[in-house]
Amino acid sequence: MTSRILITGAGRGIGAATALAFAGQGGRLILADLDTPEATAEASRKAGAAEVLPMSCDVSDAAAVAALRDEVQSAWGGLDVLVHCAGIIHEAPLLETPVAEFDRVIAVNLRGSFLVGQAAIGLMTPDAANPPRVILIASDMAYCGRETFSPYVASKHGVLGLVRSWAKEFAPGILVNAICPGPIDTEMLGADNMSAEWRAKELAIPLARFGTPVEIAAVACFLAGDGGRYFTGQGLGPNGGSVMP
Ligand code: NAP
Repeated sequence: MTSRILITGAGRGIGAATALAFAGQGGRLILADLDTPEATAEASRKAGAAEVLPMSCDVSDAAAVAALRDEVQSAWGGLDVLVHCAGIIHEAPLLETPVAEFDRVIAVNLRGSFLVGQAAIGLMTPDAANPPRVILIASDMAYCGRETFSPYVASKHGVLGLVRSWAKEFAPGILVNAICPGPIDTEMLGADNMSAEWRAKELAIPLARFGTPVEIAAVACFLAGDGGRYFTGQGLGPNGGSVMP
């Protein structure tokens, strides 16, 4: 059967590249983002997706995620792969970070991962011979601290905690992993508007370049495919060597 795949944050960046990569494999896609990701849906159809259902969903909103779950259930009766890409970042010194900003980052990145992961796992049929896959996008910052990014860093450490716990809870019937990218050239990274000083700091990693969304999508396809069968509870690190956990 053709895989049924839910991708969040599909409107742009890593999520959009992931949609196109799975579309190229002929997958059946539900694509979710804050605004219905029509452009990614159209590009996915052209790239060969068997079926594409675009939806709007705020991943931090429990009712919206429940509606997304119900849509998947009524459209397909279940789910084979989740790639949860939706996320936000906030940069500010700690003493200039309002608690509302902490709450917002945690709500989207951590609560959103909990809600979407819980909904997806509820839609999956555990099968040790052909396990469904849950893939959450964390960050290389899930392994280290970084000055002026503490809410984001804390949220991504939390995502890894969800992955490790769910991997144990649902083994061997469902495989749960994270992808922990380094600096990837998307709107979130903002390379076009970076100061020379900031760019030099970001590029002070062994591979000395930004990664591309397509390189992260390829890791998601790997984890979802036959090569990913012996991975669970892991954080895969396409990060140019930024961290070596
Ligand atoms: P991006 O280009 O900013 O894309 C993020 C997507 O998530 C956008 O389409 C955004 O929608 C959507 N989104 C934001 N809040 C949402 C919400 N509450 N509900 C649903 N969708 C929401 O970022 P990206 O670089 O592709 O990042 C994807 C993931 O990779 C994130 O989890 C990020 O933390 C992680 N990551 C990125 C990097 C990097 O360097 N780029 C590195 C490590 C990890 P709108 O357009 O409507 O805002």
